[in-house]
Amino acid sequence: MLIQRYEIFLKTSARTDMIDLTGQVQEKLDKSEITNGILLVFVPGATASLTTIEYESGVLNDLARAIERLAPEGINYEHDLRWGDGNGYSHVRAALLKPSLSVPVIDGRLTLGTWQQIVLLDFDNRPRERRILIQVIGEGN
Ligand code: ZN
Repeated sequence: MLIQRYEIFLKTSARTDMIDLTGQVQEKLDKSEITNGILLVFVPGATASLTTIEYESGVLNDLARAIERLAPEGINYEHDLRWGDGNGYSHVRAALLKPSLSVPVIDGRLTLGTWQQIVLLDFDNRPRERRILIQVIGEGN
């Protein structure tokens, strides 16, 4: 069994920035020698998440609105009273949407659906520099 590790660095803008990582993740998988196994993507940080969605402006807006209904920005959060950084809603959103996802790798390919992209959601209330960790675990040729 092999484990190979990669990183992606990127800058995000504030308030539910959505960035399609599919191409960059596929690039890392292409570099790895692993042909069958699991690819794990993880974002360290308490105000960002990873999900899959069709990267199309209509559904991205729909998702942003659904998230706004779940954890609205303009209400009181205990976190903000304690820390004063004003991003209680960002923490709640990130917890609900989770910091990682895994994708089966079969014959060297990510088994994503045709309209299913890997998307980073940055919920923080200020621009951030994010590090995305990728681990590919499995067997090679
Ligand atoms: Zn905070």
